[in-house]
Amino acid sequence: METQKQFKRRFSFEFFPPKTEEGKAKLQVVRDELARRKPDFFSVTYGAGGSTQERTIDAVLNFQDQGISTAPHLSCVGSSKQEIASLLDLYKERGVNRIVALRGDLPSGMGGSAGELKYANELVEFIREHSGNHFNIEVAAYPEFHPQAPSAEEDLINFKRKVDAGSNSAITQYFYNVDSYFYFIDRVEAMGVNIPVVPGIMPITNYTNLVRFSDMCGAEIPRWIRKQLEAYGDDKASILKFGEEVVTRMCEQLIDAGAPGIHFYSMNQAEPSLKIWDNLGLSDKEKIKF
Ligand code: FAD
Repeated sequence: METQKQFKRRFSFEFFPPKTEEGKAKLQVVRDELARRKPDFFSVTYGAGGSTQERTIDAVLNFQDQGISTAPHLSCVGSSKQEIASLLDLYKERGVNRIVALRGDLPSGMGGSAGELKYANELVEFIREHSGNHFNIEVAAYPEFHPQAPSAEEDLINFKRKVDAGSNSAITQYFYNVDSYFYFIDRVEAMGVNIPVVPGIMPITNYTNLVRFSDMCGAEIPRWIRKQLEAYGDDKASILKFGEEVVTRMCEQLIDAGAPGIHFYSMNQAEPSLKIWDNLGLSDKEKIKF
């Protein structure tokens, strides 16, 4: 964790673009509530293959227009270089200065071309070629390894490719095993990686959704957490309370060990992330030793 300690800590919240007018209105309330805590930036996810693209652009530009620094996620799979270039130009013109650059996943059953850029390292390279150093580029990191990686070793090598292609920092997939993050950092530091790798934190609010989501993205829910959540059944209040305690404790360990900030997967809800934020005293910059 030695190189991680040198970086200034930063805190951010991620949203997904809402589908309905009701979702949009709700997101504005959540966004304003989270903005009051003065995070370093917000980010908005992007669906590879067209599913949410217009909605992502709308949300990002709307946030930017409210004076909130917002990083669009941008995936390359299923898009041409020309499409990506136009989007980069639009974002640059509208004052966006940070991009979360991803390969993405095409929706299952969607045929057609994978696009001209196959992996995130190629996207990072393309962004640098097209926009120079305008954007601060974030990439994804997988402490428990990407589900399609042929081996743990190759996944680390592939992560380093993205760093070498010109990324400025990384955000991890969420995890509930802090050791997987510490081990990942040790391994990539030993390979010469020298960028902040910010833990992505998923508050626990719903057992069924968490299991479904974690199976898809390769995040492991430790047995003791799973068993405890299962035991609560439909008792939502106990799930929330337990989730808050577990995730707060995990964040404390990460911060104490020198993690360079936290990226909250807000799932478009304010309260679960804010409870953790307040438990950690993140509005009190002294407390977390920047
Ligand atoms: P890559 O870094 O390209 O890696 C994908 C796989 O290919 C890995 O197994 C890797 O080992 C392998 N690989 C990488 N490079 C090479 C290479 N050059 N040669 C051979 N193999 C290689 N998905 C969305 O659709 N929209 C989002 O907004 C979104 N946001 C995300 C935000 C974060 C912080 C994270 C962690 C994930 C996000 N995802 C999102 C999910 C992500 O798109 C998927 O996990 C996707 O499967 C991989 O994207 P990547 O950028 O990590 O891919």
